[in-house]
Amino acid sequence: MRATVMYGAGDVRIEDVPDARLIQPTDALVSVARAAICGSDLWPYKTMEHSDTGRRMGHEFIGVVEAVGTDVRTVKAGDVVVSPFLWSDGTCVFCQEGLQSECLHGGRYGLDEVDGGQGEAVRVPQADGTLVVLPVGRDDALMPSLLTLSDVMGTGHHAAVAAEVGPGKTVAVVGDGAVGLCGVIAAKRLGAERVILLGSYPDRIALGTGFGATDVVSERGDEAVERVRQLTDGLGAHSVLECVGLEQSTHTALSIARPGGAVGRVGLPQEDSVPDAIATFFKNVTIAGGPAPVRAYIEELLPDVLGGRIEPGRVFDRVTDLDGVPDGYGAMNDREAIKVLIEL
Ligand SMILES: [Zn+2]
Repeated sequence: MRATVMYGAGDVRIEDVPDARLIQPTDALVSVARAAICGSDLWPYKTMEHSDTGRRMGHEFIGVVEAVGTDVRTVKAGDVVVSPFLWSDGTCVFCQEGLQSECLHGGRYGLDEVDGGQGEAVRVPQADGTLVVLPVGRDDALMPSLLTLSDVMGTGHHAAVAAEVGPGKTVAVVGDGAVGLCGVIAAKRLGAERVILLGSYPDRIALGTGFGATDVVSERGDEAVERVRQLTDGLGAHSVLECVGLEQSTHTALSIARPGGAVGRVGLPQEDSVPDAIATFFKNVTIAGGPAPVRAYIEELLPDVLGGRIEPGRVFDRVTDLDGVPDGYGAMNDREAIKVLIEL
């Protein structure tokens, strides 16, 4: 079968790889129908050292179950399924607490004989705990929005939950990438009265406004902080969603939280320490977040996608086939595309 392999920074290839197959009795074999390139795939695209063997890529996908192992009970051949970006057993202590991202028997795609999502098929471990059956056909018009349940919509929702978004609150979203834009959707969905989007790309801002952002701050650094203060009577936002992960964006997020507020971090931190420890201490600011347990959120978000009440699939502004994936990485890296959908 064919799949995406990264050999180093800027070096993404579509290659023949061994066919995905069942190995464990808890596995499902899924033929991929839609996949995506993630903003987090751009970190290795920028920095990965050359590897002779390469690294299989992709962790967001929807597909059709081709076969299941003998222990699998909740999915069967022919089911259309979405996978969260991590696999998990659904039964361990952390899964039962809704923190499937810390599953004791879970893991990541693209490692240890588990295929990546950007390919023709995937062996999905712990299929019962991982996969969610979708009540739609393989080529349903809702596919782009359903695909966001594998990562970006669940991650934006996690940021909003961690930032304690609720009715009547003022929310600020730092970052206008796909996750930040889904964070706008999530904040609005959870009842935020005001959603301030911090971002600077016109196409992304337009999308964010369409998703419910009430204010846009395009300044950066201290000017952005000052602008948010002006917009909030000098108080800051109750809830801040940090959807970038850089030191500067984290500093901005922590600086615009009002006393007693909360910052939900879902941008992968690029620094080892959290800035502003003293200032946030004296403001009683909660700092929360981490890798999103998106599996915990799929059932909650799915009815709103099926009912058309939220349309996170609009973050996909480019569609390609598998052969176009290397160009898709380039387009996202050059900010020519917000997020790339792969159709198989
Ligand atoms: Zn578990």
